[in-house]
Amino acid sequence: MNRWDAGLPEPVHVSLSVPASTSLSLSLPVLPAPTSLPGPLDVHRVRAPWPYGEVDAAGLRAGGHRAQPLRQFVFKVRSRCNLACRYCYVYEMGDRGWREQPAVMAAGTVRVAAERIAEHAAAHRLGRVDVVLHGGEPLLAGDQELIAPVRAVRAAVGRQSPGTSVTASVQTNGTLLTAHRVDALAAAGIRVGVSLDGGLARHNRRRVDRGGRAGFPAAARGLRLLARRPEAFAGVLTVVDLQQDPVETYESLLAFRPPSVALLLPLGNWSNPPPGRHPGSAATPYADWLIAVFERWWNEPVRRTRIRVFEEIIALLLGLPAATETLGLAPATTAVIETDGSLEQADSLKSAYDGAARTGMDVRSHSMDELIGHPGFVARQLGVDGLAGECRRCPVVRVCGGGHYPHRYRDGAGFRQPSVYCADLERLVRYVADSLAQQVQPLHPAHPAPTVPVASTAPTVPDAEAAS
Ligand code: SF4
Repeated sequence: MNRWDAGLPEPVHVSLSVPASTSLSLSLPVLPAPTSLPGPLDVHRVRAPWPYGEVDAAGLRAGGHRAQPLRQFVFKVRSRCNLACRYCYVYEMGDRGWREQPAVMAAGTVRVAAERIAEHAAAHRLGRVDVVLHGGEPLLAGDQELIAPVRAVRAAVGRQSPGTSVTASVQTNGTLLTAHRVDALAAAGIRVGVSLDGGLARHNRRRVDRGGRAGFPAAARGLRLLARRPEAFAGVLTVVDLQQDPVETYESLLAFRPPSVALLLPLGNWSNPPPGRHPGSAATPYADWLIAVFERWWNEPVRRTRIRVFEEIIALLLGLPAATETLGLAPATTAVIETDGSLEQADSLKSAYDGAARTGMDVRSHSMDELIGHPGFVARQLGVDGLAGECRRCPVVRVCGGGHYPHRYRDGAGFRQPSVYCADLERLVRYVADSLAQQVQPLHPAHPAPTVPVASTAPTVPDAEAAS
């Protein structure tokens, strides 16, 4: 598991100012006493007072806040992995929850979860739900076991919510892919996404098994199989590594002909900073790395793949809704179903503190509607009202959205800081905006040049805090 999707409408006038319609009026009720959470989850209130001690989910609901339905459901079909990547946030970082999980999701748990998802889709008249098969390493499961959650959800949705379509994908390290497995997944309508640190062996030095043996040769074999089956290939997911050359990393991934590349920022936060990121520093090493890739991708005569982070920024600049939870202000709508049936928040929260993704709910006792009432979900569906003051005043907030939620964490305070990548995000958004404006502004000479405020809003912190 690794730690981590334009046309041009007229008139085109790229502006990064916060739209006047942006609502900042919803004031969050602040509770004098902790909210009641299900189960023994007091750790949340200690480690993350915001939102767990300060956001009044019931008060917000009474005040008119409407919970958004869940649309993506991650099935942890296996809780163990055949690799032991040295940066893995599940097995090698703070969260030890996997030790308590059964290795395999039981067939009964799959059936109950599928009925819960179908019930939710019917109640909210969802046009589509997405099923993601995840782990651990999901391909440790045999073909029938792996496909079972997708079949179960399609069957349950077919009975309860026939107007809802079901898409399915699996996120794997790629080492267990064979031609037979690719055929089986393609026949079941399940697209395959592969996590890789780059297209060369030396990019993947930290992707090893428990004996220290390299995982790259087997992953590369799997990727070559997928390159011949584009209908089954979802894309490659790569975490940015500042130690690697950005353009070489991008070009090496293209050798596998991925339809899309997700370039993710490493998980980290204000208390546990990402590699090479000094919290509060004005330096922008991650933006610089990504901009080098952007320049190559943006200026290619033929588009060879999609790069999600750039397409997402462009879409948001043009006023289109966010398609991911890492940028923009769209509500979080992903739920995770662990192998024992526990309902959790996104895995990436596990990089913050042990138990950060837990909700105390499970598919046997709780509906998906109950899950979106949990303070952790409520906090991630507040849009701009759930952000720190610096972010609410920031000229690029509509695009940046305060950054990925786990990157905002500070131990003992919670998730209401700007992203630890704030300076990088602001620079990247402005760079893409300027590149886009250079392309579209000549088409509309009557319009003024893009308005991008100059002053940086990157927050600063005292040196001692930055070093902690
Ligand atoms: S650039 Fe920084 S201040 Fe602006 S929205 Fe993003 S994280 Fe917040």
